[in-house]
Amino acid sequence: MTMATTNPKASDEVAIRIEGMNKWYGQFHVLRDIDLTVTRGERIVIAGPSGSGKSTMIRCINRLEEHQSGKIVVDGTELTNDLKNIDKVRSEVGMVFQHFNLFPHLTILENCTLAPIWVRKIPKKQAEETAMHFLEKVKIPDQAHKYPGMLSGGQQQRVAIARSLCMMPKIMLFDEPTSALDPEMIKEVLDTMIELAEEGMTMLCVTHEMGFAQSVADRVIFMADGQIVEQNNPHDFFHNPQSERTKQFLSQIL
Ligand code: ADP
Ligand code: MG
Repeated sequence: MTMATTNPKASDEVAIRIEGMNKWYGQFHVLRDIDLTVTRGERIVIAGPSGSGKSTMIRCINRLEEHQSGKIVVDGTELTNDLKNIDKVRSEVGMVFQHFNLFPHLTILENCTLAPIWVRKIPKKQAEETAMHFLEKVKIPDQAHKYPGMLSGGQQQRVAIARSLCMMPKIMLFDEPTSALDPEMIKEVLDTMIELAEEGMTMLCVTHEMGFAQSVADRVIFMADGQIVEQNNPHDFFHNPQSERTKQFLSQIL
């Protein structure tokens, strides 16, 4: 299984650099002294108990949440209050959520072309071609003219991934993309993510799918109480955890 941790697509180039980052929700210190460097093409799985700050951390990377101290640099752009920087980072970072967040009143194709047309100013016909390309990639081109409510959860999540890809992101963030799905639909979404990983996408995935972590991740980050407690390649993370907190977590999920 150590084979899987050799990622020919990973490079030394930095995609994301987080340094001494802290975040509070009011009085509550939710993220503490986060240091994390992600290289281009790297595949990171973020694990940890509920409430440990996993979602908050990845939401900080595209400024869905604001940090209060330290640095977050995405593809060379530091996230500050400068709206130009925020726009630039958002245009490079795709995000897929647990609840697919598709627009229910738009068709699948329209969901995929909305942002490219209105944000990227791409001509409609070209945006539709790109959308069909990515819908083929996630294996549901035949659903293009249906509405989200007509699709299964697994199909909707694959649309959400295709919709993100239509913006040509350099980095993809996944926040428990399979947690809301019935078991039989989890695999089709994970397969889509595996394919993306194999193509060299830089990915940060919050997931409880430890099989995915073992076979796809270059590195597993374990968070507890707002801190990165431990990180390692998946083999050592699962077979030789260092901290008591990690051991306790693994004993509960494996
Ligand atoms: P995880 O994704 O690991 O379950 P979260 O990042 O969602 O953790 O949450 C971390 C902590 O921050 C939890 O205690 C949660 O209740 C709290 N929290 C999350 N979002 C908010 C918010 N918008 N306002 C206040 N507290 C929040
Ligand atoms: Mg979460």
